[in-house]
Amino acid sequence: MQRREKIRELLKTGDIGREVEVKGWVRTKRGNNKIAFIAMNDGSVIHNIQVVADIANFDAEVIKSISTGACLRVTGVLAESMGKGQSVEIQAKEIEVYGLADSSTYPLQKKGHSLEFLRSIAHLRPRTNTFGAVFRIRHALAFAIHNYFNEMGFYYLHTPIITGSDAEGAGEMFRVSILDPKNPPLKKNGEVDFSEDFFGRETNLTVSGQLEGELGALALSQIYTFGPTFRAENSNTPRHLAEFWMIEPEMAFYDITDNMDLAEDFLKYLVKYILENNMDDLEFLNKMYDNELIERLKSIVSDEFVRIGYTEAIEILEKSGKNFEFPVKWGVDLQSEHERYLVEQHFNKPVILTDYPSEIKAFYMKQNEDRKTVRAMDVLFPRIGEIIGGSQREENYEKLEGRIKELGIPMKDLWWYLETRKFGSAPHSGFGLGFERMVLFVTGMSNIRDVIPFPRTPKNADF
Ligand code: ATP
Ligand code: MN
Repeated sequence: MQRREKIRELLKTGDIGREVEVKGWVRTKRGNNKIAFIAMNDGSVIHNIQVVADIANFDAEVIKSISTGACLRVTGVLAESMGKGQSVEIQAKEIEVYGLADSSTYPLQKKGHSLEFLRSIAHLRPRTNTFGAVFRIRHALAFAIHNYFNEMGFYYLHTPIITGSDAEGAGEMFRVSILDPKNPPLKKNGEVDFSEDFFGRETNLTVSGQLEGELGALALSQIYTFGPTFRAENSNTPRHLAEFWMIEPEMAFYDITDNMDLAEDFLKYLVKYILENNMDDLEFLNKMYDNELIERLKSIVSDEFVRIGYTEAIEILEKSGKNFEFPVKWGVDLQSEHERYLVEQHFNKPVILTDYPSEIKAFYMKQNEDRKTVRAMDVLFPRIGEIIGGSQREENYEKLEGRIKELGIPMKDLWWYLETRKFGSAPHSGFGLGFERMVLFVTGMSNIRDVIPFPRTPKNADF
């Protein structure tokens, strides 16, 4: 076992007089030619531990060379701290420099950089308080997601990232190919001959694991996926990434009401988990970025989500007297401005919208008796808009096939999906939660690029 202890644990102990070892990065150094105060952080917690070095006991040149960003190993004795806001500090005995950080070129020398600037140094931004807090919460959310489904008896199913179908219907796809773009093999008619490509066919990065997830649900009853998804849409918004992570539970024998109940319970569990386990980070984010964050998170846990139909939502929006950028009428797809009006101004609670017009929803959603709407359900959150999109699935072979034909989706790509409706079909439902939208909501950050370590967006994949 390592002797090194995490700062998170040390700050909790009251073991005054005990000899300890810490390793981490210098956040600040101050002092004079007799004594140095070095604040160190190892990423285990938002707080730093203060190291006090009596310069007489060290090589003064070494102490001088230490500046913000340097990485150190320190051993010493835990002492009660005189400084405010910290319980213990370390009276240093030994300081080993693992790596210096030249103060004239280290980009994080000063505090208070803009989030935009920090995006341009994505290789170093995890060392800031903000990104430390965000990435710890991101981790905790991922952990809580697996915990939730495991407790609920769901199985984690790994669906493919490279897919042969381009009919998933959720958005534009990125092609996966090893053909030489300058000199691809051509068919007689001049088109690219993908039969010579790696998989002997056209392939793309998946936009969703749902269709394969359904295959799992129709055997294991309840599954979930949690993996990366890719969309080649030019959506330059604070809520869209080209590469994002999605959680997609899929449940046999669930109707749309069961689906809504699960979505609401799941979201509340996740928020509650973070309130119970990440309060230090939440308090920091609440102070620095969003003074209503903690209150908002608590209200998610306590408020019952509103459940209304799309048609009723359109009526509310029409009567609102608001001048929306995108005008509303029955049949339009709701934009973020409409979703946020409903959630933030009209109801002041999360809203689950159901029964959308079939034209604006995917082919696999269960058709309602009115033949105009489908059993879709979107969960809308404050500050985010749509955080979950889901539905009861069409389990009837003829109806599903009819819809696929109507939309002109190439049947050859979906034969395997249709077969589940031919052999032992069952009523079933599922939804997709955008992981980064959830991290965005829970951290109170305002741009999705700031809640994923390496954001991929149009014209940006630098790191
Ligand atoms: P939107 O209308 O907001 O673009 P969508 O309806 O295209 O989303 P779905 O296909 O329903 O999205 O995907 C399920 C969930 O995945 C969404 O509710 C959202 O939380 C998340 N999501 C979708 N697209 C993106 C994206 N480009 N970046 C990050 N998250 C996304
Ligand atoms: Mn959606």
